[in-house]
Amino acid sequence: MTQVVERQNPVVPFVDLRAQHGELREQIETTILDIINRSAFIGGPYVESFEKDFAAYCGTDHCVTCGSGTDALKLALMAAGVKPGDEVITVPHTFIASVEAITLAGAFPIFVDIDAQYYTLSPGLLLQFLEERCTLGQGPHPINKKTGRPVVAVMPVHLYGLPADLDSILSVSRAYNLKVIEDACQAHGATLISNGSVRKAGTIGESGAFSFYPGKNLGAMGEGGAVTTNNPEKARAMRMWRDHGQSERYIHLRPDGWNSRLDAIQCGILSVKLRKLDAWNERRCLAAQWYRERLKTYERIVLPIEPPGRKHVYHLFAVRVPDRDKVRQRLADHGISTGLHYPIPLHLQPAYRSWGWKEGDFPESERAAAAILSLPMHPHIEEEEVERICKVLKNALV
Ligand SMILES: *Cc1c(COP(=O)(O)O)cnc(C)c1O
Repeated sequence: MTQVVERQNPVVPFVDLRAQHGELREQIETTILDIINRSAFIGGPYVESFEKDFAAYCGTDHCVTCGSGTDALKLALMAAGVKPGDEVITVPHTFIASVEAITLAGAFPIFVDIDAQYYTLSPGLLLQFLEERCTLGQGPHPINKKTGRPVVAVMPVHLYGLPADLDSILSVSRAYNLKVIEDACQAHGATLISNGSVRKAGTIGESGAFSFYPGKNLGAMGEGGAVTTNNPEKARAMRMWRDHGQSERYIHLRPDGWNSRLDAIQCGILSVKLRKLDAWNERRCLAAQWYRERLKTYERIVLPIEPPGRKHVYHLFAVRVPDRDKVRQRLADHGISTGLHYPIPLHLQPAYRSWGWKEGDFPESERAAAAILSLPMHPHIEEEEVERICKVLKNALV
């Protein structure tokens, strides 16, 4: 990976949060002023009503907001019964927070490679790992033969906005008694057909974790996250963990709580923005179509694939190109801002150097990391901008 020199004021930005907030400015200002007037910043009606709204939007019984997507994943893992010393399976081709949540819960990450076309957890490789590398021990969960530790959960990531193949993952997981925690941090509003009906990503496993980082499809004006679940006891437990383990003021039932409350201002803003989420996702899909029409005849560009039954919401529009770093610099020279999601697979990150993984362990993740390029994608991108990007991209490839 070489460093790309970007222009200070790109002609085509990668995301455009100003345009997003311009659409809703008055409603957001009214909400913030009301919260200032009430001076109730933590908990209260805005938090409760956003939790209700987001649960209703997703189609789950409960939504528990928290401080970040990372904390949402950690809460979801804890609620699934993941304990220090357990192992949790995820993919190496994702944002590092997926793995951090596992280590924050005291567990150990185990990697299974992605599917080459979809960039999401391969159900076939998951089954192969469980068949070849695990035994069924005395306890309820399979035991990793190499480490002797129980493998308790699997965390598929709905990467770039495309839901993972959950039905296949669920059927493998059921056979091996693994809990399924969905990392839906990039997939607000994405849908998939599960068990014959259309469901939202983040609602099919035991629970789903969302991030409201400003650049996500549903973003706050600061940090934030949430877990969706249909299990009332797990929702109650997560509400305690995020609030110092309290059941009521100064009665602390759990020793492993901390502070991960999402504040009223962020919840108020999120309620306003949630009403736009479907329309904004549709505009992302339209932009994806514009890209597709212009690039589909170019064999050297690998476009994202939409498998039947899984609706992509294009948090990112990631293509694969040869000579990626050169192409990226060419786009930057023309004022077109791009991203790399993600340039180093997690098993090769310096942070995990002493954990024993090496190059070649997860070839699909390594191949993706080397060739992937995220083109500008946001709800307010114009067709002319896509046109300009595609022209420069095609010229860079001849
Ligand atoms: C953004 C993201 C997270 C973490 O969310 P934060 O709110 O930044 O903590 C986790 N997983 C994936 C795949 C993400 O994209």
